[in-house]
Amino acid sequence: MSRFFRIGRSKTGLGLFATKPIKRAAYIATYRGRRITTEEADRREARGARYMFELNKKWTIDGSPRWNVARYINHSCQPNAKPVGRNGGIVIVALRRIEPEEEITYSYGDEYLDYFLQNGGCRCTACRKKRAARRRRQREARKRRQMRERRKGV
Ligand SMILES: [Zn+2]
Repeated sequence: MSRFFRIGRSKTGLGLFATKPIKRAAYIATYRGRRITTEEADRREARGARYMFELNKKWTIDGSPRWNVARYINHSCQPNAKPVGRNGGIVIVALRRIEPEEEITYSYGDEYLDYFLQNGGCRCTACRKKRAARRRRQREARKRRQMRERRKGV
């Protein structure tokens, strides 16, 4: 494994974490696995397989083997990395400088988000923080309203 990251616990299970600063646009990992037809990938996904990286309508990488470290990279709506096509495969590169101990993330794309919107919302750190902030604002608005009503003697 690279000296730039380690597999560790994240809020949503396992994740990939930087162990050294990673420069913007630097190569992080290759999404490894057997190339299968997208049709076959859909069948495997229907049976519960994860880590299918669709290259195009015809081909998909089955990234489920453990030696595919890129499979540990979690989704974020505010990612610090992104997948790019290179030599017919997929590599993950840094979108910005990533600091040690930061979790490495990329956006899984619209199809994934649609799925999550139908299943209780995205669980990435950015979305959790957004939801927490919204709840806090609602709580504070409620408190202000109660104080106003109390002053008015309602
Ligand atoms: Zn999200």
